[in-house]
Amino acid sequence: MDINKLTKLVASYNPPEDVELVKRAYNFAKSCHKDQKRLSGDPFILHPLSVAYILAELNLDPVTISASLLHDCIKDTSTDISKIKEVFSEELAFLVKGVSKVSKVARESKEKQKIENLRRMLLAMAEDVRVILIKLADRLHNMRTLHSLDQDSQLKISHETLEIYAPLAHRLGIGKIKCELEDLAFSYLQPEAYEDIKERVALRMEEREAEILEIKKHLDRRLRLAGIKAEILGRPKHLYSIYCKMQSHRVGFDEIYDLIGIRVIVDSVEDCYGTLGIIHSLWKPISGRFKDYISLPKQNMYQSLHTTVVGNKGRPVELQIRTHDMDKIAEFGVASHWHYKEGKKKELDFTERISWLRRTLEWQKDITTDEDFMESIKTDLFAERVFVFTPKGEIRDLPKNSTPIDFAYSIHTDIGDHCVGAKVNGRIVPLHHKLSSGDIVEIITSKTSHPSIDWLKLVTTSKAKTKIRQWIKRETEKQEEDKTKILEKKHPKKLIPKKKKIKTILGIQGISDMAFKFSKCCSPLPGDEIIGFVTLNRGISIHRKDCPNIRTNDPCKILPLSWDDDGKGIYETGISVLAYDRQELLQDLLASISSTKTIINEAHGKARKDGMAECRFSLMIEGKEKLHTVIKGLEKVRSVVKVCRIQPK
Ligand code: MN
Repeated sequence: MDINKLTKLVASYNPPEDVELVKRAYNFAKSCHKDQKRLSGDPFILHPLSVAYILAELNLDPVTISASLLHDCIKDTSTDISKIKEVFSEELAFLVKGVSKVSKVARESKEKQKIENLRRMLLAMAEDVRVILIKLADRLHNMRTLHSLDQDSQLKISHETLEIYAPLAHRLGIGKIKCELEDLAFSYLQPEAYEDIKERVALRMEEREAEILEIKKHLDRRLRLAGIKAEILGRPKHLYSIYCKMQSHRVGFDEIYDLIGIRVIVDSVEDCYGTLGIIHSLWKPISGRFKDYISLPKQNMYQSLHTTVVGNKGRPVELQIRTHDMDKIAEFGVASHWHYKEGKKKELDFTERISWLRRTLEWQKDITTDEDFMESIKTDLFAERVFVFTPKGEIRDLPKNSTPIDFAYSIHTDIGDHCVGAKVNGRIVPLHHKLSSGDIVEIITSKTSHPSIDWLKLVTTSKAKTKIRQWIKRETEKQEEDKTKILEKKHPKKLIPKKKKIKTILGIQGISDMAFKFSKCCSPLPGDEIIGFVTLNRGISIHRKDCPNIRTNDPCKILPLSWDDDGKGIYETGISVLAYDRQELLQDLLASISSTKTIINEAHGKARKDGMAECRFSLMIEGKEKLHTVIKGLEKVRSVVKVCRIQPK
């Protein structure tokens, strides 16, 4: 590797003045690192030079390439960033600073350091993705030269590569770097498995090559007849993907047939579908293996048609069909954005395509603990994704296993907080429904509905989890406050002046300032017919007239009472609901109660062995009329059999 090799490559896709910039950056870096050596004994400058070459192979712009030449200057030498800004440009200095920030070592525990680095790296990436491209190229070259490090470091670095950098390359669509990173890390982490697969692939390749050649010849002839210009390539799969397949399908090497994929590259999208038709007419497709990533691209920008057919020898052969542009994107991903300098259209397209990243990072600022952060990175950034659409056709990407609640929160916190149900492709689905790519999702909201603690089990995205937890926390605090207020309202003794003639206390006529209490057994409400029961030591206890607990023949003990019209208050009462058990029953009941603006003190749901569920609620309510409204509402909830008043707990 030397500077001439690099400039030659840069010159192949850039004007001469841009090549000049790269040369200047090289000379600057060379003087920075002049006496430094790498652990391998090589002059240090070879490292930035190789990193720059990797980026030039991705056809990146000269500014990125120059920045990559300078990427270790700040960390390892006495140069500072203002100097780079002065000699080069602000843009270039920003990139160098971004990469340097990422590598800066804090004096904290190793684990904390790793997380902090990752956090910084992602934030820097949100500002300019090229920072991460340099970082990926840096990591790739370090992986290529990992043999000069001790075994401990080899394992650690390989682990990190497999956990963070390869998935990152994948998410950015840079298949080229992703595969090489994975195979390199694999060779250090599982050296035996790596060697084994490598040998077996080489052996099998000979035997399969003839078969592939046969298919290629046949297909080529037919495509030419159809007037489709195509490039047909047989490409061996990378070793780590074979290993993963063996692991996930729990099969041995001999059961893996698709060691070689065939790639057909054509000129236009129409030709892609035309080619697919021809392939399916020549060989029998295996059902369930066809994927159309052209009309529904992966969100890392990848587009292709995938199909698997039964080849001439009766064995499955995997084919990918794509245009030249799509092929470039599959290899270079976001990096391909910098291949084109002109054209606003592409700019917009690109911004939309990495918007997942910005959205993910935006709310991650709220996450404070390291554990939560790592968790959210793993689920939101690296998990497999599903693409769904809003009714207006806007695309949303969510991690696999997301539900309508995740979708609702991805649109707006308010929509999540008031979500009661969802329609997927026009059909009502339960809130635990798992979304699939291509679904059109419409959220049904209700002003009075709100999150419940059960939702935490239904959601996948950390955004939804965080927002639900926030809501519950806020609401618990508010309820505590409300309870205090209600108690004050319920016992407003100090506020009520003595009314000498009208014998009412607390809105009840017939008793004066005698001690009294509402009986718990029937918890009377305004509107109920009531009587007072004179007890020996505890004053008067107020019951409903029909309360079965009043069993006395002594008329002296019974005091006729009635509610005062002005006697508005708020009283505790209980309700029991019997229903056929089903998903989200409790949620629906709660939503129904809160739609009447009734305060719920407590809610309990119990599933019975006979398939029924019994739910009990303790409510704060103004009177019988209101209670009637609540009961009517509950009776309308799906699967409810019976609603009755009970003693509040
Ligand atoms: Mn480096």
